[in-house]
Amino acid sequence: MIYLNGKFMPLAEAMIPVLDRGFIFGDGVYEVIPVYSRLPFRLSEHLRRLQHSLDGIKLTNPHSDAEWTRLVADLIARNDGEDQYLYLQVTRGVAKRDHAFPKVVKQTVFMMRSPLLPPDPALKTSGVTAITAVDNRWLRCDIKATSLLPNVLLRQLAVEAGTMEAVLLREGYLTEGAASNVFVVKAGALFAPPKDNLMLPGITYDVVVELAQADGIPVQIGPVPESLVRIADELWLTSSTREVLPITTLDGQPVGNGQPGPIFQRMDALYQQHKATAMRQRSE
Ligand code: PMP
Repeated sequence: MIYLNGKFMPLAEAMIPVLDRGFIFGDGVYEVIPVYSRLPFRLSEHLRRLQHSLDGIKLTNPHSDAEWTRLVADLIARNDGEDQYLYLQVTRGVAKRDHAFPKVVKQTVFMMRSPLLPPDPALKTSGVTAITAVDNRWLRCDIKATSLLPNVLLRQLAVEAGTMEAVLLREGYLTEGAASNVFVVKAGALFAPPKDNLMLPGITYDVVVELAQADGIPVQIGPVPESLVRIADELWLTSSTREVLPITTLDGQPVGNGQPGPIFQRMDALYQQHKATAMRQRSE
């Protein structure tokens, strides 16, 4: 069952008019929210980021946080599956084709869910491969916009190179992955780019920074030069659906010794523990 503009229905019955600005211009924003044991993880943070994205494209939020929370709970209740991920999208609705905003806007609101499979354990023991690519996206990467064509092309570049992710570099600095955030470990410390307009402020990024700080791992948030990426002991990618994964090969070269590193192993354990604790507390 999916949700579309006030109604729950089977996916096959969901239709939107071809003049929806989401279809015509990619004029919309979205969120992906993991659900563990039927409870949404960090929902208020996702809703805050949704508001930031909507503000960024000057689109009124069609729902209050309380309404979103109810809709999310309703969608989970109408579907099976312990672990799922919710996709929600808000577009500027249907209007005669014109770049300028329509005078009267009726947002299109769509939500669906899919099974959430934990990353293959083999990826954590062997690591994943990635390439670097020039970050040729716009200057508002902090908006989670549905117009993802640059990300699509960059991710495809990675796939065609037989790798899992493209690590993006802009003017000599790391920004993020085509569909993830990226961390560097050097000499026992964690380095991450700042949450500015050049990257998506990942919810998993925040979890990782919080867990590292609480565990006494030194964390440095600031511009990460490509030179540091090239000599990293460890490289990680993070996202809500892939959690934390070690990148062990970059552009065909081993990262560090080419194996998932000890700080990754520590972080993965902390992340799994945090997830389990958060869910236990929520369900009590
Ligand atoms: N950056 C980009 C470009 C992404 O698409 C994503 C999510 N797929 C992320 C970062 C990670 O964000 P989150 O941890 O909130 O999933």
